Amino acid sequence: MPEICPKCGLLKDICACDVLEKEESQRIKVYSTKKRFGKLVTIVEGLEKDVLDKTAKELKHKLACGGTAKDGSIVLQGDHKDKIKSLLVSMGYSEHSITVR
Ligand SMILES: [Zn+2]
Repeated sequence: MPEICPKCGLLKDICACDVLEKEESQRIKVYSTKKRFGKLVTIVEGLEKDVLDKTAKELKHKLACGGTAKDGSIVLQGDHKDKIKSLLVSMGYSEHSITVR
């Protein structure tokens, strides 16, 4: 018996709900904030845990800045908001999943 998707009523084979859900669930947020002593840092949130370290390393390298990856987010020294989106896109992230505040 063919499986029917409960969401859209289409056969599981042709339904795209899983794919949409995955794209939807990956929302990357980029913003900068002031840390102690008034230093600016840029935060990248919403990346998957297994790529967090790798992405942090690459961003640090490309932006030539210091930073850390922990608790599901990347903290980069300095304000790099305007550059991070295009860097993430060049790493293969969808432009639409990235929100810069
Ligand atoms: Zn469906």
